[in-house]
Amino acid sequence: MRDNAPNSWETRADANSLYGFTDLPSVQERGTVVLTHGEGPYVFDVRGNRYLDSNSGLWNMVAGFDHPGLIAAAQAQYARFPGYHAFFGRMSDQTVMLSEKLVQVSPFDRGRVFYTNSGSEANDTMVKILWFLGRAEGHPERRKILTRWNAYHGVTAVSASMTGKPYNSVFGLPLPGFLHLTCPHYWRFGQPGETEAQFTARLGRELEETIIKEGPDTIAGFFAEPVMGAGGVIPPSAGYFQTVAPILKKYGIPLIADEVICGFGRTGNTWGSQTYDFMPDAIISSKNLTAGFFPMGAVILGPDLSDRVQAAAEAIEEFPHGFTTSGHPVGCAIALKAIDVVMNEGLADNVRRLAPRMQAGLAEIARHPNIGELRGIGYMWALEAVKDRATKTPFPGTLSVSERIANACTDQGLICRPLGQSIVLCPPFILTEPQMDEMFDKLDRALRLVFAEVA
Ligand SMILES: *Cc1c(COP(=O)(O)O)cnc(C)c1O
Repeated sequence: MRDNAPNSWETRADANSLYGFTDLPSVQERGTVVLTHGEGPYVFDVRGNRYLDSNSGLWNMVAGFDHPGLIAAAQAQYARFPGYHAFFGRMSDQTVMLSEKLVQVSPFDRGRVFYTNSGSEANDTMVKILWFLGRAEGHPERRKILTRWNAYHGVTAVSASMTGKPYNSVFGLPLPGFLHLTCPHYWRFGQPGETEAQFTARLGRELEETIIKEGPDTIAGFFAEPVMGAGGVIPPSAGYFQTVAPILKKYGIPLIADEVICGFGRTGNTWGSQTYDFMPDAIISSKNLTAGFFPMGAVILGPDLSDRVQAAAEAIEEFPHGFTTSGHPVGCAIALKAIDVVMNEGLADNVRRLAPRMQAGLAEIARHPNIGELRGIGYMWALEAVKDRATKTPFPGTLSVSERIANACTDQGLICRPLGQSIVLCPPFILTEPQMDEMFDKLDRALRLVFAEVA
């Protein structure tokens, strides 16, 4: 299938691109899939092959790849005012309107919004805000950041330090002062004989012991995705946030919800923190914020942090932080439209309505003896492959089982993502029932094919 001609798309892609997060042996063998356009939840490659993208691009293209309302919003704003910054007391009208909207749809009564170009930059910005606050409030030692193993918070030097993945060691990361707690994945990390409630309680004790050992006054904040996304779609163990939130509150440590994936509908509610019933001190948003039509991230501060940061900035006459394209008018116009599309054009409703159907269809597929766990919520799910279901023993890494499954899916016109030993499914919110069935059929066939080879 790979075309090795010197002028093929594959050869040209290889010659000039440094691939990020890409399994290079697979690309060498199969060639890069070069895409030209999309229709609804489908994308098309240069050869005219059509793929159902069950990963919404990278979680973000929730309204599909050709939503006319979003395209029109972008075109209109490009024609009206195609770019501006948000420094020096100036910002576009779209930026003002989006901040108003974000506070309005947030769980906060009031708040303040700061814009970035990505989720990583939004997490980085939040850490800088916490460091800024610590110094301004006479606690310069408040610098440590708590996250969890398998968390994904991004790739900049700070957000990669927050990400709890072993691959960051190739960069000599994490930076000092970034501490990782146990991943709240009961199926994988629960101890023999331990109930889920006992597991959650143990994680609560670990958090409190860590705070005491490190010194409560050395910790700037705790960041958590309501459902871990790129760590393998891991919903929290039962009662997790109800256990950690009061401990954080007791020691005055802000709880930051990284809602980059969960925000705007993925779990069936506007926020994942609503789904899991906890109140964060700030929210990190990106991905769905513009339905993937523009690079943009946002830090949404709740009332307490808003007031404290504003006071600290007033004391030194500015908050010395920002990106050239923070609050870009086109991005803001698109985000305003995207929020409207997700919340008012039935997309979030679709997730709520069809999530049980998705779960049931995947549960059917997960009956295969080489699937150890099906986990997820709303429109974010993972199937984890195992060599032995009873002992939860994974396949040897050298077999690259999940890559093989994803490749077998691609061959049938279904894009899904291998993540560790899991396959991730997080389709666009516009997915219809027949398209969902197409996803089930192709996935089931690919799984059977690969398990027949390796099991
Ligand atoms: C994707 C992601 C990020 C990073 O966003 P980028 O836009 O890729 O920098 C941060 N947090 C979570 C939870 C994410 O899923």
